Amino acid sequence: MGQRCSDTRGIVFEDVRIPKENVLIGEGAGFKIAMGAFDKTRPPVAAGAVGLAQRALDEATKYAMERKTFGKAIAEHQAVSFMLAEMALKVELSRLAYQRAAWEVDVGRRNTYYASIAKAYAGDTANQVAADAVQIFGGNGFNSEYPVEKLMRDAKIYQIYEGTAQIQRIIIAREHIGKFKA
Ligand SMILES: Cc1cc2nc3c(=O)[nH]c(=O)nc-3n(C[C@H](O)[C@H](O)[C@H](O)COP(=O)(O)OP(=O)(O)OC[C@H]3O[C@@H](n4cnc5c(N)ncnc54)[C@H](O)[C@@H]3O)c2cc1C
Repeated sequence: MGQRCSDTRGIVFEDVRIPKENVLIGEGAGFKIAMGAFDKTRPPVAAGAVGLAQRALDEATKYAMERKTFGKAIAEHQAVSFMLAEMALKVELSRLAYQRAAWEVDVGRRNTYYASIAKAYAGDTANQVAADAVQIFGGNGFNSEYPVEKLMRDAKIYQIYEGTAQIQRIIIAREHIGKFKA
């Protein structure tokens, strides 16, 4: 569907034997180790989603200032300018969210909560903003001669990999409620 420069395959291991010295913590602890890695990988994945959303916003803004309907640029129609404002809001807040998550790592704190907020919010932002960019381009947005349909296809994966949008909400809820239990 998108991100076609990244060739993705499933891999299957059968009858693999791991030498004892290569076992990281304990037998059966692999899932936990893999999950811990997500605290570090989710902020940069969120940053990628913000980059996509920023480009969608930039492309939509330039187009909205060029394309004229009813005697004025569509950016001057309030319905369109408010869409651009909503897009800008989401882009800026998503950027702050991944920077907060990354900063938590820099100061040596466990960032699970912030990493999931950043990933969930930036993933949703990328999808919303890319879809809005297609809308602002009108029929041209659906056309592959313009850049935004690709951004919309590319955006979808940000709600799926590195933990789906639903899984992020499970983590955020668990971390949030956990603070009140402590
Ligand atoms: C392009 C691409 C690249 C990828 N790259 C990697 C990679 O580099 N490394 C890697 O390990 N994986 C990679 N993946 C796999 C990706 O992480 C998984 O597809 C993703 O985690 C979802 O798992 P799943 O496909 O098994 O879906 P499922 O787990 O079957 O989920 C299906 C749906 O059910 C929802 N769901 C599942 N469980 C729950 C629950 N408990 N509560 C609420 N909702 C739930 C999900 O949110 C989703 O909407 C990649 C996938 C793609 C498409």
